Amino acid sequence: PPSSLLIGRFAPSPSGPLHFGSVVAAVGSYLSVRAAGGRWLLRIEDVDAPRSMPDAAEGIIVTLARLGFEWDGPIVWQHARLEAYADALQSLRDHGRVYGCACTRKMLADAPRAADGSARYPGTCRAGLLPGQSARAWRFRVSPGVVRFDDDVQGPMAEDVLADVGDFVLRRADGLFAYQLAVVLDDAAAGVTEVVRGIDLLPSTARQIALQQALKLPTPRYAHLPVVVDAAGQKLSKQSLARAVDELPDTQVLFDALVCLGQSPPVDLRGAPLAQIWAWAQAHWSMNAVPRRPAVNARSDYDR
Ligand code: GLU
Repeated sequence: PPSSLLIGRFAPSPSGPLHFGSVVAAVGSYLSVRAAGGRWLLRIEDVDAPRSMPDAAEGIIVTLARLGFEWDGPIVWQHARLEAYADALQSLRDHGRVYGCACTRKMLADAPRAADGSARYPGTCRAGLLPGQSARAWRFRVSPGVVRFDDDVQGPMAEDVLADVGDFVLRRADGLFAYQLAVVLDDAAAGVTEVVRGIDLLPSTARQIALQQALKLPTPRYAHLPVVVDAAGQKLSKQSLARAVDELPDTQVLFDALVCLGQSPPVDLRGAPLAQIWAWAQAHWSMNAVPRRPAVNARSDYDR
């Protein structure tokens, strides 16, 4: 493919039916590449198998198809990628970038918290395990320094990952590979050039770039979209049982997603055939129009 080809992706976790907030992220990632003639991939992020629901992935795929999304190539399932994750972890270990950690959740509970309440790993096992201890989890040895990137919606970003987060887990004590590792490897393996997703994932981005650098993988462009909140200001999420978009007309869902993305679709497009709404959206897509604020309101149809 030509080097200018944009490749985007949507990477839902199958922990429940697709809700309106996820549709907004999907529409944004889709249009950001389709409007430029690029490719759009679908990846089911079921690396966290215990949190994945058996029928949720199938439901998400059916919903996306009903809304008129067309993905390129086969769907990637993270459960089929465990070997790639293990290989990358081993290579990082060989280069001294991963170390075994014996800390339990209980031991870490007393560690000082960052300003936002999140825990920074204090580096207890960084210099090696004490005699008699054995590795439970595997942590990435973060390099000192500031990671910078220019987010296409949020603007210039900078984070000192070592100071803010510390060495983070790549393989958990329960044996599961961490989302941070999987997403970096999957995006690189698929040649993804544009990561467009909800702003709830913005705090992960510097960690992912740090991993890309350690693995000598290219860094894609990033754009973090506002999340969708209900009238009470609560994020629509699978946990809050946001109304499954399947209960609403497909044309309404797509139209409303465009409104949330600041695309200002003309009112006479409301109720137009799905293909016509998509055609308008691709012809008029503007990342600059996407609101920079962290949250946008959904019409009350989407919460309950
Ligand atoms: N699987 C993640 C989620 O559903 C998204 C990961 C990503 O877009 O990088 O929240």
